Amino acid sequence: MAKDEYMERTLVLIKPDGVQRGLIGKIIDRFEQAGLKMAGMKMVWVDPKFAKQHYKAHVGKPFYPGLESMITEGPVLAMVLEGLHAVETVRKMVGPTEPKQAPPGTIRGDLAHHSYQYTDKKGIAIKNLIHASGNKEEAEEEINLWFSADEIFEYKTVHEVHVF
Ligand code: AMP
Repeated sequence: MAKDEYMERTLVLIKPDGVQRGLIGKIIDRFEQAGLKMAGMKMVWVDPKFAKQHYKAHVGKPFYPGLESMITEGPVLAMVLEGLHAVETVRKMVGPTEPKQAPPGTIRGDLAHHSYQYTDKKGIAIKNLIHASGNKEEAEEEINLWFSADEIFEYKTVHEVHVF
């Protein structure tokens, strides 16, 4: 059967702060509870060259050096999540970039509280636990950067019986 036009895949990273804080299980649990399917998952220790590829939109910005040290300071848990409107759904669940502004109920709002005021003063990147693709085009590009085709799996979940 052809995939529904609303069925999407998105790239989600639990960044080193999330891994080191032992929040992998809690964060994945939220996505699973929402009915999103884990299509791929692996742990990666990013090097500066790969950081520049992933964050190409930010290379050269004042906060980039701090961002590169943050993303390379420990392993990252990379996932491909699949579901209806997955890109938008995941961004909604993750909340805004600055944890200080992220409302309760979002992952950043519930599990973090960093502010731009603090990170600007310290010259570090904001620690917001997660990266999630911003739109469908970015999702496709980022999934191709992080995962090879044989690392992404097709299988049926119960949601495909009870939700779709
Ligand atoms: P984004 O591509 O929007 O996810 O941004 C990449 C990451 O860079 C964010 O998740 C933050 O960790 C960090 N970041 C973005 N904007 C800033 C900023 N103005 N100051 C510090 N860190 C930032």
